[in-house]
Amino acid sequence: MDGMAAIYLDNNSTTRVDPEVVEAMAPYWREVYANASSQHIMGQAARGAVEAAREQVAALIGAKPREIVFTSGGTESDNLAIRGVLDANPNKRHVVTTAVEHVAVLSLCSRLEQQGYRVTFVAVDSSGRLDTDAFASALDKDAALASVMHANNETGVVFPIAEIAEIAASRGVPLHCDIVQSAGKIDVDVRSMGVRLASLSAHKMHGPKGVGALYVGSGVRVRNQQVGGHQERDLRPGTEGVASIVGFGRAAELARKRVVENGRSIAELRDRLERGIVEAVTIARVNGDTGRRVSNTTNIGFEGLEAEAILIALSEAGVCVASGSACSSGSVEPSHVLAAMGIDERIANGSIRFSLSHETTDDEIERAVEIVKRTALRLSALAVPR
Ligand code: PLP
Repeated sequence: MDGMAAIYLDNNSTTRVDPEVVEAMAPYWREVYANASSQHIMGQAARGAVEAAREQVAALIGAKPREIVFTSGGTESDNLAIRGVLDANPNKRHVVTTAVEHVAVLSLCSRLEQQGYRVTFVAVDSSGRLDTDAFASALDKDAALASVMHANNETGVVFPIAEIAEIAASRGVPLHCDIVQSAGKIDVDVRSMGVRLASLSAHKMHGPKGVGALYVGSGVRVRNQQVGGHQERDLRPGTEGVASIVGFGRAAELARKRVVENGRSIAELRDRLERGIVEAVTIARVNGDTGRRVSNTTNIGFEGLEAEAILIALSEAGVCVASGSACSSGSVEPSHVLAAMGIDERIANGSIRFSLSHETTDDEIERAVEIVKRTALRLSALAVPR
């Protein structure tokens, strides 16, 4: 690693907790440690902090505080939204989603199919754009819910959620939107977007891991998936993780303040990284719609190379990135997102996701471009033509 700190370009996996967030959380372990459901003054102080955080998270997405349910993260929120709506509408047995959702949604949908539900996975084109006509025609009378993500975690491609929500609303189907990768990166206003449920996760916006939220628009019927106490309006029983929730609130507040300015400067760095790589490495091409992406993400395919080999070589050189592929039983499977886009396997198998944050510096991008260039050229010299 040349004695230098690692260059962290894996912010879609998780982000560094902001020092201001750590500071905001600390008193809720040290001093205000009471249960937020306790009626004494210490419990009331903890309750006050949870409710303040609810307001901060609501403000980030244009919701009302009472529409925010704290959960353990994006995965739980996705599960609670989809299962919760199905359980509240037992006469409807169809879910409409897309082929490129996060595994939190896709794995649940596979489970639902095994349990006798019908699921439609709407296709995308080679740029990752949703087939909105296919989406519209999938919304039949049996559809209990549609679940469509806002920004894709692998490519950063943003779906036109307002348009999708309008189609869903015209057919009387509530839309759940996974906004885990868009909240804090681009403007998200659940009301103007027309989504009825939305999943969030704190650790993607410089908050702590293990806490998230589900936005449940007023009037949407959701059944709890856990039974116990009456926390979170019965929708998510269990003692609230006060410090984590406080950290999430502070992270949401910081993200709201930074969203516009950060978006611009992060996009500049992302574009510089992308250009630097594509111009110097002839086998490199960008996956996904470059005109409609969150500002921090680029997914680059290195034709004929193996993503795992690139990832490991970059890691050894001090650059932390991700590949969308999943290693199962010894063989590497290409990312389901790139497969759904119909990306040629020789590119998909060599695709790397670079994801930046406001903490990424000019110098890091300059160094990363050089390291990626060197690595790609070295690996392609070694690659056996297939
Ligand atoms: N949805 C999307 C789009 C994500 O990118 C992720 C995390 O990678 C999740 C859901 C899951 O969130 P969590 O890690 O908080 O469970």
